[in-house]
Amino acid sequence: MSVRLRFAPSPTGYLHIGGLRTALYCYLYANKNGGNYILRIEDTDQSRFVEGAMENLIESLLWAGVKHDEGVFVENDKIVQKGEYGPYIQSERLEIYKNYIKQLLDSGHAYYCFCTKERLDLVRDKQRQENKTPMYDKHCMNLTKEEVESKIAAGEEYVIRLKVPKNEDITFTDLVKGTITINSSEVDDQVLIKSDGFPTYHFAVVVDDHLMGITHAVRGEEWLTSTPKQKLIYDYLGWNMPMYIHLPTVLNKDKKKLSKRQGDVATSDFKNKGYLPEALVNYLALVGWSPKDNQEIFSLDELVREFDFDRVSKTGGIFDIDKLNWVNNHY
Ligand code: GLU
Ligand code: ZN
Repeated sequence: MSVRLRFAPSPTGYLHIGGLRTALYCYLYANKNGGNYILRIEDTDQSRFVEGAMENLIESLLWAGVKHDEGVFVENDKIVQKGEYGPYIQSERLEIYKNYIKQLLDSGHAYYCFCTKERLDLVRDKQRQENKTPMYDKHCMNLTKEEVESKIAAGEEYVIRLKVPKNEDITFTDLVKGTITINSSEVDDQVLIKSDGFPTYHFAVVVDDHLMGITHAVRGEEWLTSTPKQKLIYDYLGWNMPMYIHLPTVLNKDKKKLSKRQGDVATSDFKNKGYLPEALVNYLALVGWSPKDNQEIFSLDELVREFDFDRVSKTGGIFDIDKLNWVNNHY
């Protein structure tokens, strides 16, 4: 089976260099193995949508030479989508998600929740006072079909939630982090469909990774704790999970998350300052991955040849601007 990887950014702003590194690893692995690398746009959170961000992401990726071969492209200033697994923009896939949420509702693995924001706030406040992690209290889980229908008919707003079992171990394997087990008592009844009818990220990402035949899901380790709930969705829909690869966060020299406050983090900042794209990509590859020997300067083709997930580090990679400058001067 040929490998299929995706970079799935949300169009909420610029391309962070951590995101560029994720895209790069997808590109390297797909090209090394003669597979496909897809760009999918995850824009289901309409409140965070930034005009022009999609175009910006694509431009930054292309400037860096991290070219996708399927998904969303810009041609003559227009967004176009290429590939038989599309649409690749999630807001254009709403009918698809509706189909699968129906399946989960019918099989009893999802349920309607009519709780108001006021009620949810009260529940959370009480849990916080008791030093518990705020979680939905499953108040609406046992509504009858008739109750649900009459509330919907009365025009009450609702979301659809995942029915998480009370006390079950959820286990999955990550290629970098190893086997991870979490008890379902720590997993919230995640909202899958929001009151605006859009899916949440968690639901859309599972449906799309499955339908797009993704074999390796590469993403930042901030998503590691989301994987158990996504595993439940796979199980309930009767699907196999892709292999997961959670990458260590890109950190600054103080081992804190690299953020705009301490300097440049947008790919376009480096572009505007005149860095060579080859040098940026070369250096980023080494933030969180180590080659077999001490080679420091790589062409993109050399990276394709050398790269593998087994040499990705388990803990944070340090982004050191001095080292980037060194690579940029020696490239
Ligand atoms: N849309 C998510 C993000 O912006 C993607 C996470 C994932 O790859 O599952 O980071
Ligand atoms: Zn409820």
